[in-house]
Amino acid sequence: MNDILCLVIPCYNEEAVLPETAKRLVSKMEKMIAEDFISEDSKICFVNDGSKDHTWKIIEELHRKTPMIVGIKISRNVGHQNALMAGLKTVKEFADMVISLDADLQDDIEVLDQFVQEFKNGCEVVYGVRNSRKKDSHFKRFTAEGFYKMMSLFGCELVFNHADYRLMGKKSLEALEEYKEVNVFLRGIIPMLGFKTGSVTYGRKERFAGESKYPLKKMVAFALEGITSLSIKPIKMIISLGALFFVISICILIYILIRHFSGQTVSGWTSLAISIWAIGGLQLLAIGVVGEYIGKVYLETKNRPRYIIEKTLF
Ligand code: UDP
Ligand code: MG
Repeated sequence: MNDILCLVIPCYNEEAVLPETAKRLVSKMEKMIAEDFISEDSKICFVNDGSKDHTWKIIEELHRKTPMIVGIKISRNVGHQNALMAGLKTVKEFADMVISLDADLQDDIEVLDQFVQEFKNGCEVVYGVRNSRKKDSHFKRFTAEGFYKMMSLFGCELVFNHADYRLMGKKSLEALEEYKEVNVFLRGIIPMLGFKTGSVTYGRKERFAGESKYPLKKMVAFALEGITSLSIKPIKMIISLGALFFVISICILIYILIRHFSGQTVSGWTSLAISIWAIGGLQLLAIGVVGEYIGKVYLETKNRPRYIIEKTLF
């Protein structure tokens, strides 16, 4: 008996690419089934993340024509990570392995069988790693590099150049369920699960159609989410910084006292003004960072559901 594979694809306003993506994925899956590589019960699951266009209609249509295609409809837009979680949790019930990928055909689907091969070789988690970022804009490359550098500075080790193109087996999916946090950052959590891991390198393509759903604002939010949900180093850094400034201010105090008692009056307000601004700025920054974590604690304690599934097509 071959293992059941299920592809999970979060979709947000993807009507422009969906028919083509489905066509290519179905033909790839059929090929793998014909080669007796995966079970004929394997599925392709599109997760509609509260799209405002006709994405869900297209998914329903695809399901009617091709039973291999199934769908999950989330009640509103909850973001890529949560949509992915919804898909993983739902299909885990019947699939032995799950591969998550984007709807826009940027992840090369020709390497799907390599993921399965790695799974057959005993890997529980297989990461898709981009061999280059040539197809990305300079800006995207620059910000992505900065993101990885910053993450490692804050003590979070991510798999370099790996996005969310990955295979997970049933065991790791079950382990993932144990992570109850509401703010999920899968790329950071999955390496924590352990298990034997492997990787598949692929060439990242350009978006087939439509536009990126990750504008700068969302990218910054995503990076912040990643850092603050995985590391408390920023808070620790603030404490060190505070200690440093405390030492500096004592030195300045001693200096001022010496000048005072030796009869030299302190003149210029320049230095005074600068230090007020510098310390004020630093304090605001520090409060902001602490606030970010407090906000996170607040959201986590509310323990709200990550998503609500409105409908499923199976
Ligand atoms: N996506 C989603 N919900 C969102 C934003 C994006 O499900 O709120 C999906 C989107 O449909 C795509 C994947 O996440 O399948 C990656 O998004 P995109 O290709 O826009 O990101 P980029 O490749 O530009 O980083
Ligand atoms: Mg994309």
